[in-house]
Amino acid sequence: MILVTKPFLPPKKAFDLLVDQIWKRNWLTNNGPLVNELELKLKRSLQLDHLLFTSNGTIALQMAIKALNLKGEIITTPFSYVATTSSIVWESCTPVFADIDKKRLTIDPTKIESLITDKTSAILATHVYGIPCHIEEIRIVASKHNLKVVYDGAHAYGTIYKGKSLLSYGDISTLSTHATKLFHTIEGGAVITNNPDLLKRLAYLRNFGHDGYDKYNGVGINGKNSEFHAAMGLANLPFIDEIINKRKQDCMLYDSWLIDKGIGRPLIPSNTSYNYAYYPIILDSESQTLKILNELTKNEISSRRYFYPSLSKLDYVKGNLTPISDDISSRVLCLPLYFDITDSEIEMVCRIIIRTLKY
Ligand SMILES: *Cc1c(COP(=O)(O)O)cnc(C)c1O
Repeated sequence: MILVTKPFLPPKKAFDLLVDQIWKRNWLTNNGPLVNELELKLKRSLQLDHLLFTSNGTIALQMAIKALNLKGEIITTPFSYVATTSSIVWESCTPVFADIDKKRLTIDPTKIESLITDKTSAILATHVYGIPCHIEEIRIVASKHNLKVVYDGAHAYGTIYKGKSLLSYGDISTLSTHATKLFHTIEGGAVITNNPDLLKRLAYLRNFGHDGYDKYNGVGINGKNSEFHAAMGLANLPFIDEIINKRKQDCMLYDSWLIDKGIGRPLIPSNTSYNYAYYPIILDSESQTLKILNELTKNEISSRRYFYPSLSKLDYVKGNLTPISDDISSRVLCLPLYFDITDSEIEMVCRIIIRTLKY
């Protein structure tokens, strides 16, 4: 069985040593020393000003929307995981979908301005697969119309854009460190901002609004994460460069088999050091995509229709027309990619795809 993804597990000894510390201190959650250490190490390695570790990447999005006091309409991408849209709806805002750029698969910055109304408060875009959005163009349209920018950076760990972590852009960026993501803490996420006032707001939001044990600074929620999750992050962190390097080799091997067979791939913009978070391919048609998916499944290889359906089709939103996203999402497939996948497994996946393309 070849899975589409498989969480990296660090040497158990490294995790055990950290768990021993937890036992000794009997401090399990609520901003403990391992959570602090993980936040420090993440800030240092990603060169970020401020970062708060959260219980997951979805609550991070919800906290971002709350912290910026977003109301009304939020212009967003239809090509992402459902959490990008559901967080907007959960926070009682209305998602307005701008179609995507057909090369990068991120929100098309030229489609944003015509969707802005007097109710628009922000742009929430996803660096899908870890590919940078059109950051400069989005910044220009946002500042012209006085909109906030939130980036769903769930996939963005490890991508460097113009010499800085992709997570350093926007008013707030969010990260997911779920077990299926490149860098994981089993469950977890983070909010990132360069603005110290926003950081304070986010810190209150993460901890019920507590300002001391008997005072509250506004409404809050429980967005905290535990010492055990931080321990997994700390045990994984030393391996992250090796993990990204291995995935780069794997992606290059896939490329060498598939690129000249007419298979589409998203475009990574220049000035980008990519994190190889996913290996999506874009086929000619939905029927061809399903044929390949079925053929792989028959051979006990899993692949995923990430991201299908296009989020403008969700039954709880009023979908705008997003033909490019609808089309791409019907033809995209993510192929197996994880730390210990072997060359021969990748070659088997490719052989099956190439064989299936022929009939
Ligand atoms: C995984 C993911 C999320 C949600 O993160 P969780 O940590 O699972 O809550 C949000 N947005 C995108 C694009 C994701 O892939």
